[in-house]
Amino acid sequence: MRNLLVAGNWKMNGDLAMSSTLIKELVENVENLDEVTLMVCPPFPLLGSVSQQIKGTPILLGSQNLSEFSNGAYTGETSASMLKDIGCQYVIIGHSERRVMMQENNKMVTAKFLTAVDNDLIPIICVGETREEKEQGLTRQIIHEQLNSIINSDNIELLDKSVIAYEPVWAIGSGLSASPNEAQDVHSFIRSIISSNSEKIAGKIQIIYGGSVTTKNASELFSMPDIDGGLIGGASLDASEFLSIARATKK
Ligand code: PEP
Repeated sequence: MRNLLVAGNWKMNGDLAMSSTLIKELVENVENLDEVTLMVCPPFPLLGSVSQQIKGTPILLGSQNLSEFSNGAYTGETSASMLKDIGCQYVIIGHSERRVMMQENNKMVTAKFLTAVDNDLIPIICVGETREEKEQGLTRQIIHEQLNSIINSDNIELLDKSVIAYEPVWAIGSGLSASPNEAQDVHSFIRSIISSNSEKIAGKIQIIYGGSVTTKNASELFSMPDIDGGLIGGASLDASEFLSIARATKK
């Protein structure tokens, strides 16, 4: 049985006051969540204060990005060891907003994946198709390309400590979630790609869904056999909404 993971991607939102209030509410209520791991991914400047606030609680910390380089003359970048040092256990890589707006391609995402794993950070690898790709029937091809650029028979074992997030680009921030069946179909496809390299890892790896998850659709999505939780954007900025989504993970 795979554990469930619900991660909040705050994107470029929040400040010290908002973050402190939100985390306080999560900390006060997290004890009632037995079957799910809760994680928050605040923007870089808030990682330090959130890290202090969640110390000694079951809440985990993730970053929204990392540099593929380890240190040196890379102005504006943040290294994996800095993230570890501040208390991150996870890092989101290949989010579609970075792929589209920051021109991150599969090669860069792969480099970030390898840097994360090398530094004992668990990568949450985001994959997903755009609306146009979906309409052209290219969903599986795109997911296959995105995953295959990272996974090959040489590094399949590295997925042992990774999470995959299926995030259809058209569903992110749009209010239009994939239906539970649509999402399940892609999740089981992702698991089958991994299975062709390693059945053991395919059975173990958490594949979470992201894209307009709310309290209204969470329990149906999370009841699907290959959906192991969610990556939550907008709804993770409201503590009670985020906690209700996490409570919906009971299978
Ligand atoms: C995201 O940004 O990863 C995301 C899933 O956003 P939203 O939940 O707002 O669609």
